[in-house]
Amino acid sequence: MNTPTVTTPRRVERLVAGQPTSDGAGVKLTRVLTQPLQRRLDPYLMLDAFGSDVPGDYIAGFPDHPHRGFETITHMIAGRLRHRDSAGHEGLLGDGGVQWMTAGRGVIHSEMPEQQAGVMEGFQLWLNLHSADKMQTPGYRDIPAAQIPEFNAPGVRVRVIAGSSHGVAGAVQRPRTEPLYLDIHLAPGARFEQALPATHNGFVYVYRGGLSVGETAVPEQRMAILGNDGGSDGVVLQAGEQPTRALLIAGAPLGEPIAQHGPFVMNTREQLMQAVEDFQAGRLA
Ligand code: MN
Repeated sequence: MNTPTVTTPRRVERLVAGQPTSDGAGVKLTRVLTQPLQRRLDPYLMLDAFGSDVPGDYIAGFPDHPHRGFETITHMIAGRLRHRDSAGHEGLLGDGGVQWMTAGRGVIHSEMPEQQAGVMEGFQLWLNLHSADKMQTPGYRDIPAAQIPEFNAPGVRVRVIAGSSHGVAGAVQRPRTEPLYLDIHLAPGARFEQALPATHNGFVYVYRGGLSVGETAVPEQRMAILGNDGGSDGVVLQAGEQPTRALLIAGAPLGEPIAQHGPFVMNTREQLMQAVEDFQAGRLA
């Protein structure tokens, strides 16, 4: 059962509409979590939403590019994306699958659509690493849809990608940043509660339908930043009249300086210059 656990729910601090942009070799996407929100939503650095049935919007993909200092979580809703990296990893992400890559001290990788037509829809989230973890050995996991644990209740299906929900441990657990990443499917009018420490930063992104968080309606393609209300113990989502799907993402803030230069995210400018130098010298490959 969807046992009530939240007695003092969080309120919405702010609604955010993403910014249309393009990245990689010209993939059209919406940047939902942008750089000015990195401090507020620490430990998260970026959320991109992509979704199109026009091949020209996605076909060019993301050819070889480097990363250092954080983790990338790619979550496909529909479509096929082939991943290859300089550490020798390769995988094909399909409908509902997740790829969790820890760039650590550095990888060069490509993320290319493996389809010529049809819908490609999904998300890429960037999760920061603690200063002590930024130079760790790169890691990579493909998690097919069938291996993602679920919590189910009447009108509620929750795919627990990271963290845990109602006793269901997600596919990924991380110390320090303690990420929670839930893909929540709600029938019209369904309600879902999730426990959440008040100190964790969190947000909801609605990608189908619409829902309410307390008195705030969150329409499709909007991110609701959840207030860190003192004494709050979770969040309550109430679907509107449409079948609704949303991401609930939260984590423990690192509280460290954030220095970003494109695909490198470190703590200081000197570390960024080192990253660029290492990349140019071929030391990320
Ligand atoms: Mn990448």
